[in-house]
Amino acid sequence: MSTIAFIGLGNMGGPMAENLLKVGHKVQVFDLSADALARLQQCGAVVAETAVAAVAGAEYVITMLPAGKHVAAVYLDPDSGVLAHIDSKALIIDCSTIDVETVKTVAAAASAAGVAMIDAPVSGGVAAAAAGTLTFMCGGSEEHVDKARDVLGDMGKAIFRAGDHGAGQVAKMCNNMLLAVHMAGTAEALQMGVNNGLDPAVLSEIMLASSGRNWSLEVYNPYPGVMENAPASHLYKPGFMVQLMLKDLNLAMENSRATGSKVPMGSCAKKLYQSQSEVGADALDFSSVLQQLIPDS
Ligand code: NAD
Repeated sequence: MSTIAFIGLGNMGGPMAENLLKVGHKVQVFDLSADALARLQQCGAVVAETAVAAVAGAEYVITMLPAGKHVAAVYLDPDSGVLAHIDSKALIIDCSTIDVETVKTVAAAASAAGVAMIDAPVSGGVAAAAAGTLTFMCGGSEEHVDKARDVLGDMGKAIFRAGDHGAGQVAKMCNNMLLAVHMAGTAEALQMGVNNGLDPAVLSEIMLASSGRNWSLEVYNPYPGVMENAPASHLYKPGFMVQLMLKDLNLAMENSRATGSKVPMGSCAKKLYQSQSEVGADALDFSSVLQQLIPDS
């Protein structure tokens, strides 16, 4: 068993850290939220007063933070950054979903300080974090990704190496852009069928047996009442929130500009999710994008 520092104990990081405790790791935690710290303390974590204290003696340092600026600050802030305090034999695993540039900046600073790092963003939401069934998409050397497998395996069911630093974020960005596109396309097709008088359940069955079959239709039908377990049948209670999909699409759009990638479908999906956010649906499940496609009455 290992000594692991875990920084960022929110909706995802909290249950991930709990799973590490369940298998017997020593987990030293830090978060800005006293409530989050109290919850983890009850599960047996060692609560640190600062992020720097959390990394003392840790063999792995895991971060699960909202965005690139938080990750950069936690590692590199001249006053409170932890990088200078991490053991040179330790491995940094950043599981946050952030921009590729920040990954490369932190990885280069870590390398200059003699510390190894990988990016390892996840697929699967809060339920998968709690169940320990996340998918990790890693960027970094083979040696370091292999080293990370020991602890990532305690929080997830699938671990992929996509390439070097930042490649995990690229894989996640591509996957979520495609998810946004096929969810919007599925919602559009179902709503058009309904506008023509079709039963969305019958149309779903037809498309599932035809070439329109896709993951959104198979397990996450966006039309209310078609699939009992889908968020659409529970007033779009998330699930995966509109605001998180929009965050991922914004990262994809930024990256497409930086790399000259042509993403007309992703860009169109982003506009739909942006409109859904602007009507106050940020906290609804992302399949609620169907509401943007209902004809004006
Ligand atoms: P969250 O807002 O619930 O949690 C973030 C935590 O980070 C909070 O507890 C906050 O207090 C803490 N934090 C912020 N700045 C800090 C600092 N400087 N030092 C210590 N703690 C700090 O977010 P979340 O839903 O857990 O998401 C975390 C990451 O995982 C994000 O990058 C998100 O995009 C990604 N993600 C989320 C989901 C999901 O369904 N929620 C799914 C996949 C990936």
